[in-house]
Amino acid sequence: MFEQILFPTDFSDVAKKALSFVKKLREAGGRQVTLLHVIDQSNLDTLSAINTVPDYLTIEKDMEEKAFRELEFMENELKELGYDVTIKIAKGFPLREILRVAEEKPSSVIVIGSHGKSNIQEMLLGSVSEKVIRKAKIPVLVVKR
Ligand code: ATP
Ligand code: MN
Repeated sequence: MFEQILFPTDFSDVAKKALSFVKKLREAGGRQVTLLHVIDQSNLDTLSAINTVPDYLTIEKDMEEKAFRELEFMENELKELGYDVTIKIAKGFPLREILRVAEEKPSSVIVIGSHGKSNIQEMLLGSVSEKVIRKAKIPVLVVKR
């Protein structure tokens, strides 16, 4: 039922909590995990607006490398549990990229945090998780903060 898991992460504390549920899904028949981080285009646009070209390209490359190291760390933890793991780093708008990967790769469930980096107290859900729940065609497991 939960064989192929798509786990989009923004490396926030709530997403870390969601990762612990991805780990638990191994006992529920989980076999494969796709770890996805989206480098947010809106942040890149801000970066390019306030930096000169070489600086902004260096910062972007740093963001990519840092994301890769974080994903690699999670990959190793999941592999130790017996999961097959695929790492993906995308650039663009998180919602669009999450939905694109969910369609592209056969997935049985999306595991997502209820909130992410902003984690605003008054919000029932973050904007990414809200829209993923609305638009995804497969079940979404929302891990509360
Ligand atoms: P908002 O972004 O609307 O200010 P927020 O940051 O608190 O609110 P979301 O961004 O909706 O909340 O995050 C909810 C979950 O969505 C995260 O826990 C994570 O699983 C996923 N997510 C959010 N942003 C990304 C991203 N850039 N790449 C991959 N997954 C993401
Ligand atoms: Mn967010």
